[in-house]
Amino acid sequence: MSKETSLKAPEGLWEQVVELVKSRFSTENDRSKMERYFPLFLSHEFKENTLHIAVAEALQVEWFTSLFTKPIESALQELGHADAKVVFDIAESAQSAHAQKPTFAPPAAAFLKQSAAPVLMGMPSTLPLTENYTFQNFVVGPSNSFAHATAMAVANGPGRTLNNPLFIYGGTGLGKTHLMQSIGHYVLKNNPSASVCYITSETFLNEYVNALANNAMQAFRERYRKVDVLLLDDVQFIADKRQFQEEFFNTFSSLMTYRKQVVMTSDVAPKDLKGCEERLIGRFQQGMAVEIEAPSYETRLAILKFKVKMQSSGRIIPEEILKYIAENIRSHVRALEGAISRVITFMELNANFPMTLEIVQHLLKDSIEQEKTIKDLTVEEIIKVVTEFYNVTLSDILSPQRTQTLVTPRQVAMFLSYKLTTRSLTEIGRSFGKTHATVYHGAQTIQKRIDVESDLRKAVENITSQLGRNPSELTK
Ligand code: ADP
Ligand code: MG
Repeated sequence: MSKETSLKAPEGLWEQVVELVKSRFSTENDRSKMERYFPLFLSHEFKENTLHIAVAEALQVEWFTSLFTKPIESALQELGHADAKVVFDIAESAQSAHAQKPTFAPPAAAFLKQSAAPVLMGMPSTLPLTENYTFQNFVVGPSNSFAHATAMAVANGPGRTLNNPLFIYGGTGLGKTHLMQSIGHYVLKNNPSASVCYITSETFLNEYVNALANNAMQAFRERYRKVDVLLLDDVQFIADKRQFQEEFFNTFSSLMTYRKQVVMTSDVAPKDLKGCEERLIGRFQQGMAVEIEAPSYETRLAILKFKVKMQSSGRIIPEEILKYIAENIRSHVRALEGAISRVITFMELNANFPMTLEIVQHLLKDSIEQEKTIKDLTVEEIIKVVTEFYNVTLSDILSPQRTQTLVTPRQVAMFLSYKLTTRSLTEIGRSFGKTHATVYHGAQTIQKRIDVESDLRKAVENITSQLGRNPSELTK
């Protein structure tokens, strides 16, 4: 080693960084995707407080820089390397071989030129992009950071195989449309002559039906096969529309062949799209599927602060009030927006009125009540899912029989009712025709068993997910 400042990475540093970065991604799914990328890092060296990571080509430098720089830098910081930087370079061995490589894949570049003239924005086949659905206005937290980073990478290099198609999924009001449109804005900013088409699946389907009725299929096909970036929102609506799926399959394949970027959103993962042809699902899975989850308390608070900054012409809302909203509105971001807008509007109409927590509680009473009903499961729903899972009947569960094949499902249902609803032990007991002491004993038994029996733990987590809840709630 020539320079004194040049310092080999402390033993094990790289492995620790990798572990930390992986742990940042909140779902198993995202983590396993990250693992696909690590092998693409050819070498790494920690020099002058900078971690140099070598990769094979310029495309990867760009892609990994946007995806990994922040997470790796904060991991380094956590490991005691304050202000450490991360730099992705092309490996020396790869540099000469790839010297002539263009940044854009040739077919895409050729096609871009051809299609430079027709700008599709504003034509009937694309819906307008919402002005403020941009990356700048998107608050990033653990629930959406992977989706956000991937969307950024797509926006920086549309059409690359690694992320094509990009499939963004998650519950309603969590930012799928926002993120998808951010890609559209970004691509257009970089290349105003790109043809970006944003459309909901419903509109797309209607156009198809109209085209069929008017004998205009040729025009319909040409229109969609010409775009550079197709943003197709809420793709779950094409379920059970077999004929349309056939047409869409062809459009989709054609776009892929020309390395055009396709981005889709849906409320479920590709594999869970019901009523959708297998081969279509297969194609959807060839790129990247990323999930947006419900935001954590911290992210909800950050989103509220951001919205206040954007909307409230300078008046400050006390932290206590923002915290109250973040604690009580948990379902999705759209509900948070609604709540904060109400508060801001009230504040503006009553400029001289001091904003207190009591006023806010009053203003948001209805939405908070509604949140409770969204969030609260009934004991009956829990019993139903548990019986289906264990393949037993309702009367089995409610019977006094004490065979192990019935005791476990019964106690699991009690445990989940105790953990996931706001009912008291007595109320839960009533649903089971048992005393509160029996419910408590049942819940305790399962609690102890899942600490040692991993199969049972997995089963209980699985049922919790099926109930639409996060298994992490079980540990609270
Ligand atoms: P979805 O398509 O998943 O139903 P949307 O993209 O329509 O959800 O988002 C609902 C609302 O919440 C939009 O107004 C959007 O701007 C806002 N929103 C969602 N996620 C975020 C975020 N991370 N930061 C800022 N605003 C967000
Ligand atoms: Mg949407």
